[in-house]
Amino acid sequence: MTTKYLFFTGGVVSSVGKGVTAAATGLILKERGFKVAVQKLDPYINVDPGTMSPYQHGEVFVLDDGAETDLDLGHYERFIDIRLSRVSNFTSGQVYAEIIGKERRGDFLGGTIQVIPHITNEIKRRVGLVAKETGAEIVLVEIGGTVGDIESQPFLEALRQLRNEVGRENVFFIHVTWLPYIGATGELKTKPTQHSVAALRSIGISPNMIIARSDYPVEDGICDKIALFCDVEKNAVIPMVTSDVLYEVPLLLEKAGVGDYLVEKLKLTATRKPDMKPWQKLVDNVRKPKPAVKIALVGKYVELQDAYMSVREALKHAALANDVEVEIGWVHSVDLEKDKGWDIVQGADGVVVPGGFGSRGIEGKIMAARYAREKKVPYLGLCLGMQVMCAEFARHVLDYEDANSTEFDRSTSAPVIDLMTDQRSITDMGGTMRLGLYPCVLKEGTKAAEAYDVPQVDERHRHRFEFNNSFRAEFEKAGMVFSGLSPDGKLVEIAELADHPYMIGSQFHPEFLSRPMRPHPLFVGLMKAAKERSKK
Ligand code: GLN
Repeated sequence: MTTKYLFFTGGVVSSVGKGVTAAATGLILKERGFKVAVQKLDPYINVDPGTMSPYQHGEVFVLDDGAETDLDLGHYERFIDIRLSRVSNFTSGQVYAEIIGKERRGDFLGGTIQVIPHITNEIKRRVGLVAKETGAEIVLVEIGGTVGDIESQPFLEALRQLRNEVGRENVFFIHVTWLPYIGATGELKTKPTQHSVAALRSIGISPNMIIARSDYPVEDGICDKIALFCDVEKNAVIPMVTSDVLYEVPLLLEKAGVGDYLVEKLKLTATRKPDMKPWQKLVDNVRKPKPAVKIALVGKYVELQDAYMSVREALKHAALANDVEVEIGWVHSVDLEKDKGWDIVQGADGVVVPGGFGSRGIEGKIMAARYAREKKVPYLGLCLGMQVMCAEFARHVLDYEDANSTEFDRSTSAPVIDLMTDQRSITDMGGTMRLGLYPCVLKEGTKAAEAYDVPQVDERHRHRFEFNNSFRAEFEKAGMVFSGLSPDGKLVEIAELADHPYMIGSQFHPEFLSRPMRPHPLFVGLMKAAKERSKK
């Protein structure tokens, strides 16, 4: 079987939705019976986004095998409903680290190491790994950044070479661009698209399809112009107007004939007709007016909502399952410390405290947890959100005034959250946390067990600290239930309050496994409890 490659490049500006486009394309191909795999190439020099600031990079999406990856992998998993692995994301940093490591070991026998062929060979090797590991018939590869960036050049060069090596008939380039709108004349402009295609062609790549993103309807004449100037077939110019519903993108691509066009051009044989009805139903449901449920999301990177991409999506999935509309109130935890933002928390039917690192805003999160516990407002704590829930409980129920996680206070008299033993000797920050999928055994009769409705689950982790077992008995006596434990019973994975409608914290990140059609049970539980409250 020959692997077919679909390469997605971006033109004109960043943030045009290349990731969503690739994800949606993957879905419409999967719907035709093909085995698809997806990969994102990130041209920056960082080894992975794990150590990058959420302000710069948005969310870090964690995979089953513990890879800390780009948030676009979240789109791929949610749209295509697949589980990806480490090979699905790599950066310039990883490529260079590999090559420099080999050079230091003497593997190149004194040869001069160059971008071509050494770096480009390593890029091609890593692209090839996906098909090898997954056995996919179609590999969709998204190249981060915008054509013209210095950093992405070796990547594009590698893909150009790959095209000759795997055969031109097996490679298809999709260029995603942006049509700016000039208000004064009321027109969409194609010139930036033409220029970005020219830049792509100057390095030897002619796109086979152009997906032209726009905030305004794209007239046929515009598509004609793009086809003519950019040398692509008219029916390979796909206008893609911004949709208010993210999950509508696969429907729009399908309607525009992208799936059939790809099958024809790549000489593939589809084994079934795509059934987009479930997606249509999903989108219709999103658009249907529903009662609103307000959720206060108390984080510290709230200025950049991309930092909580999967949390936001998981809340939306859970809302759909409960037939409500979620209105997320973004609350900066530092504001709560300054007596600001409380109106949003007080007006909410539920509180979510997501993951995070470092001490900034911790007190505000603890205040939010206290409020949720005392006022019996449904609460879901995700990783750090579980940790602050425990610190709050220790402070105000068990009267350990200075209870804390040792991440924030090393000299606390009640270190209820502490560094995991196997983390103590670690000095490197990159890729060294407890990462990826771990099993969790649920305790019968608890809210968590009721929500999941199975005895054991596997969930994705990303943390260094954990619940300190020397406090377990005391917590339990005072009404905290450890409803999820590692199979050996040593690690607390889920904590919940007995006397509360729904106050649950998980040491893992459930948001990474939520899917539009399969919402995550802990989020569904939160939304159900919040819906109940909103009725009162
Ligand atoms: N900073 C905390 C820890 O390392 C929580 C991490 C998180 O929320 N992902 O344990």
